[in-house]
Amino acid sequence: MKIAVLKEVAPGETRCAAIPETVKKFVALGAELAVEKGAGASAGISDSEFEAAGAKVCSRKDALKGAEAVLCINGPEPATLEGAAKGALLVGALDPIRRKDAIAGYAKTGLQALAMEWMPRITRAQSMDILSSQSNLSGYKAVIDAAAAFGRAFPMMMTAAGTISPAKVFVMGVGVAGLQAIATARRLGAQVSATDVRSATKEQIQSLGAKPVFVETVAGIEGEGAGGYASETSDEYRKAQAELVSGHISKQDIVITTALIPGRPAPRLISDAQLATMRAGSIVVDLAAEAGGNVEGSIAGKTVEKQGVTIIGASNLARGLSADSSALFARNLYNFLSAFWDKEKKAPELPDDDEIVQAIRLTRDGKIVNERLESS
Ligand code: NAD
Repeated sequence: MKIAVLKEVAPGETRCAAIPETVKKFVALGAELAVEKGAGASAGISDSEFEAAGAKVCSRKDALKGAEAVLCINGPEPATLEGAAKGALLVGALDPIRRKDAIAGYAKTGLQALAMEWMPRITRAQSMDILSSQSNLSGYKAVIDAAAAFGRAFPMMMTAAGTISPAKVFVMGVGVAGLQAIATARRLGAQVSATDVRSATKEQIQSLGAKPVFVETVAGIEGEGAGGYASETSDEYRKAQAELVSGHISKQDIVITTALIPGRPAPRLISDAQLATMRAGSIVVDLAAEAGGNVEGSIAGKTVEKQGVTIIGASNLARGLSADSSALFARNLYNFLSAFWDKEKKAPELPDDDEIVQAIRLTRDGKIVNERLESS
């Protein structure tokens, strides 16, 4: 099987869908790797490193020519994939809901598009889960960015010139990104508190040495939530949560919000009026900015100041850690393809009745074949 690795063209993208380690592993499985020139440059990987790992480094046209699989971070425009073999696999974060025309284009060109962000949350698929691998890094980077923008230190310091008190960090939404944000802020020495609608997160917060701040009067989501995800809460819960947040937020220096509900706009957790109660110089990082924002007035990809509070509208923070985010993403792709590898054919065999295949396969034989996409 010839596998092409393309140079990403999306503005601001720094990641690469392969690293020398995964190239070597694919070669060991019997695949032939063709990497577009400069594909790894923004992730700190040179063409010669890819060559040393066993790939051929060439133009995009040559890489695509006859490729039976194309690895990408973001879904490329269908017209830019000319030359790939009929039925070739296109594997990456294809953003199916927002890119319906492009997905139809993949079908038309006969590609088999596989949307890695729709990987089911089952144990077998954990090592293939790009949402988890990238969210974990985003949670870390959110805290680092907040610390860089904050005019004070995180840890308590007792110095001859006096004591510096520890920063107070509040994390709202304790999924993969939120857990890493808690852990990172703790490592930096902050006093950390956190909240979520799923009751199962209470213990996780405590186990990281942070304080859970939860609505106790109205039931949220008992346990994990379906597939680990939250759903919309009741009006009563939202009112109780707003009161709780109002009481807590005015005492915080840094707030990191990560709350998401699949298929819905992000829940609004912080209003303008609540921001106004925060001390000047406080920092808010909204990791849900691209999904509509947890914070009133946050803008994805922009930093704005409101009532003396800096609001960082985070956008794809994993891109800021291009070497690590590429490595984890590339391993997710390798773990997926190698799990289905047919040793004799030296290519993956994707069975129709497999839960993973059914969840992520969008197009095949010229048609859209994904129920979730069709019903959206
Ligand atoms: P997510 O990105 O969908 O949401 C982030 C967090 O926001 C969630 O914890 C959610 O409960 C919370 N949230 C939603 N509405 C909220 C509100 N109004 N107020 C406060 N918080 C709110 O979640 P995620 O990071 O994808 O992870 C969710 C869970 O799934 C985690 O427990 C994670 O460990 C689990 N998970 C399991 C697997 C697997 O088994 N393969 C893979 C990934 C994640």
